[in-house]
Amino acid sequence: MIRINKLCKKFGHHEAVRDLSFSVPEGSAFALIGANGAGKTTTIKVLMNIVEPTRGTAEVLGVDSRKISPRELGQIGYVSENQDMPEKLTVEEFLAYLRPFYPTWDTELEKSILNQLRLPPERKICDLSHGMRMKMSLACALPFRPKLLVLDEPFSGLDPLVRDEFMEGLLQQAGEMTILISSHELGEIDGVATHVAFLDEGRLLFEESMSDLVARFREVHVTLERNGTQNRNELVAPAFPKCWLRVRTVGNVLSFVDTQFSEGDVGERLRALVGNVRTVDAQPMALRSIFTTLARAAREGALP
Ligand code: ATP
Repeated sequence: MIRINKLCKKFGHHEAVRDLSFSVPEGSAFALIGANGAGKTTTIKVLMNIVEPTRGTAEVLGVDSRKISPRELGQIGYVSENQDMPEKLTVEEFLAYLRPFYPTWDTELEKSILNQLRLPPERKICDLSHGMRMKMSLACALPFRPKLLVLDEPFSGLDPLVRDEFMEGLLQQAGEMTILISSHELGEIDGVATHVAFLDEGRLLFEESMSDLVARFREVHVTLERNGTQNRNELVAPAFPKCWLRVRTVGNVLSFVDTQFSEGDVGERLRALVGNVRTVDAQPMALRSIFTTLARAAREGALP
């Protein structure tokens, strides 16, 4: 559905996107995750042919993004925070304006989406709140049943109730759609994304399926025998694996985030590394904690 190959985008001397490559498989819900300024919006703007790449290519539905025609646009839904809409028109009027552009527009679906998102049809677009505008943007993107739905930070600034309404509207229609969704943090796309790509300062740090990501992260607490040979300083050893992040000790408890966790060998591996292990507790982590751990490590240049 999307194939990005060695994409670079410069604004003046600033490289907003650097040598970025990834593919979005058909039927997936692919999350682009990164802190402010990571290059998410720039990548999406290249895909939507709003800005041109400096180098490299981006293909959407098999077509170079610079050559996207109305044929492809008729199969792509695009939802973004900063989308221009005709402010003077009402919700109903704008939807009526859009209908003829899309041969596949389903008016029954349009009605049910409006109801579900609780959008007032007679309200002028300029009078919509931020959350309502985002829902309006979604209501414009779904009724033609797009093959590809691109959502640029759809949840930013939404209160939890509106976020849930938005999410329900989205998931009910998701069906066979492929979704590309950008977000500041992993926790926001919990329950939506099947794949994730993590961007930092325009670079791709990693890309994998959500289930693999969740499976390989554990928050580990190791209680050591008090009469062991280690002292506190020896424990914070440079020899610890690079896949351990946020390593710290409090008393005789060593804690860290294991980013390459695998069942079975935990105790053995730890004994080999730190000796007198009394107990090991390895807990799965919430997406939000995985994100903050990764974001901090990326900032400190400590990502394995
Ligand atoms: P955010 O989450 O804050 O929206 P983002 O990951 O979407 O961030 P981008 O908006 O793609 O990031 O911006 C990436 C970098 O490119 C930033 O440093 C930004 O300042 C810069 N940038 C983006 N658009 C322009 C532009 N039109 N002119 C100059 N610099 C730009």
